Amino acid sequence: MQALVLEKKNHLSLREIRFDETLGAHDVRIAIHTVGICGSDVHYYTHGAIGPFIVRQPMVLGHEASGTVVETGAAVTHLQVGDRVCMEPGIPDANSKATQLGFYNLDPAVRFWATPPVHGVLRPTVVHPASFTFKLPANVSYAEGAMVEPLAVGIHAANKARIKPGDIAVVSGAGPIGMVTALAALAGGCSRVIITDVQQPKLDLAATLGPITPVNVAKENLGEVVDKLTDGWGADIVFESSGNEKAAAGVFAPLCPGGVVVFVGIPLAPIAYDVSAAQIKEARVEHVFRYAHVYPRALALMGSGKIDVKPLITDKFAFSESVAAFDFAVKMPPTSVKAQIEL
Ligand SMILES: [Zn+2]
Repeated sequence: MQALVLEKKNHLSLREIRFDETLGAHDVRIAIHTVGICGSDVHYYTHGAIGPFIVRQPMVLGHEASGTVVETGAAVTHLQVGDRVCMEPGIPDANSKATQLGFYNLDPAVRFWATPPVHGVLRPTVVHPASFTFKLPANVSYAEGAMVEPLAVGIHAANKARIKPGDIAVVSGAGPIGMVTALAALAGGCSRVIITDVQQPKLDLAATLGPITPVNVAKENLGEVVDKLTDGWGADIVFESSGNEKAAAGVFAPLCPGGVVVFVGIPLAPIAYDVSAAQIKEARVEHVFRYAHVYPRALALMGSGKIDVKPLITDKFAFSESVAAFDFAVKMPPTSVKAQIEL
């Protein structure tokens, strides 16, 4: 089948590649419809690696996907041919200790699409466990279905924060993950989100998504804005979604006493962490890695209209334009949030 293959760093090709995928009793075969381009896909393209994950042989990219069930295994009961679905891209070992303890996202043996050496899904079909395949509500499009993967990160972060109704949160970084974290925080009970970035078009878009106060940290002072909105108390929650060294080093400054910081963005290098600043506030600190158990919640929130990701889908490409789509994503204009490829 045709697939978008990362041959090696800086070299993509749309070419024929052979897959011998047998359908197990608990699997479904899915015709892929839409695949979002993720920062991680782009990073593999431009750097050939993310931390310890190194692209050593040609790998198909793409892990944010939706599609249609075209075949079901003999033991599959909750899905039928024709169902519109989205898929969790990480398949843990069902017998691992991490999976048995409930944090299957932390299973060291997890096989995650487009994380070397596992192929991704920028290709016409894939076989996937039915238990990691979720039906889209009737009012959720394939494009929105392909947004469930990044949204799941935001929902997982909101879970980790243990939001209380009325909390005020800071989200640093208005990239795709910052945006979905802001939406998840509001859906989870926050009364307001203060979102930061240095790209004004992203902040302008964020401000249209709900009770979200944009702060351009290139010219405004985050602390002053937080003080004003919280009567000087500080934000209940800080979601660090930028991965930016400077933003990450300052997470405790806008936080209220007893507040929580959730590290969502993945810094490319070790960052400074001010322990005494955290101690003074007895800050609780959480970290997220991908997500677990949140796809049904993300879909329920989309289906009910509590979360609308449509404004975040800014650019569309045909499968035949996949290489051009990635070159676009490498130099994404500040007005763009999420680019998707339609098969
Ligand atoms: Zn992603």
